[in-house]
Amino acid sequence: MDEIEKLRGLAQRLRWSRSAIAFTGAGISTESGIGDFRSPGGVWSRHQPVLYQEFIASSEARRRYWAIRKETYGQFAGAKPNLAHRTLAELEAAGGLRAVITQNIDRLHQMAGSRKVLELHGNAREIVCLGCRQVSQAEEIHSRLEAGEEVPECHACGGILKAATVSFGQPLPPAVLEEAERLSREADLFLAIGSSLVVTPAATLPALARRAGAFLAIINREETPQDPIADLVVRTPIGEAFQILGTATGF
Ligand code: NAD
Repeated sequence: MDEIEKLRGLAQRLRWSRSAIAFTGAGISTESGIGDFRSPGGVWSRHQPVLYQEFIASSEARRRYWAIRKETYGQFAGAKPNLAHRTLAELEAAGGLRAVITQNIDRLHQMAGSRKVLELHGNAREIVCLGCRQVSQAEEIHSRLEAGEEVPECHACGGILKAATVSFGQPLPPAVLEEAERLSREADLFLAIGSSLVVTPAATLPALARRAGAFLAIINREETPQDPIADLVVRTPIGEAFQILGTATGF
């Protein structure tokens, strides 16, 4: 079967589905100008992530953390949803998609109009004080970084500020993970899009859905460790794949 036939078959399944779930990773946002985790030369491939425990324990680690944020924020700030984000939002509005479960921290699904979005790894558009829990907009803290602050502190209580993302070494929000697991178990179609499917526990969801009876489809240009258990694997670039899916589903 060629890629176009596979995508037409997938569109058919999306039309019939009662409880489809889209599970997205950094690859859905690369065509919006945000580099994925492993893109060669990208910011993410040049820096070691700062572990949560290091971040809490050391001001030097916090300096490193904010230097990386300062470098990556520009990509997020100007990014707009692309065809794939928009098509998923339209599918949901038409009743063809139950939820988006995302590993992404860019909020592009919500900006595209998706209403039910489970953020497994939080979001980078908000900054939280770990002391008084006050939430600020990333824009505001980043203008402080641009003005020369290296380790911004909470203006209300002097506490440690951190992006509202889940760092390595930090547990996923339990209620979000539980709901994601429930929706995955209940899904009749589970569509993984643009994820290398290696970051756990998020990457356990496709297999969970498959074991519970979902049709598992993966759209990713590279191989993933879950390809062998998938019912359908598509290697077409995501933008092109969604053009075909959009036409075939009527969006
Ligand atoms: P990943 O970088 O590990 O994998 C992305 C996959 O998408 C790769 O296998 C790549 O080949 C594929 N891909 C990229 N562009 C594509 C395209 N146009 N068409 C088809 N395939 C394409 O991403 P992940 O699995 O989401 O895990 C990375 C972690 O990093 C996540 O936890 C996520 O929170 C974080 N992250 C998020 C963003 C974001 O919010 N946009 C960006 C970078 C990293």
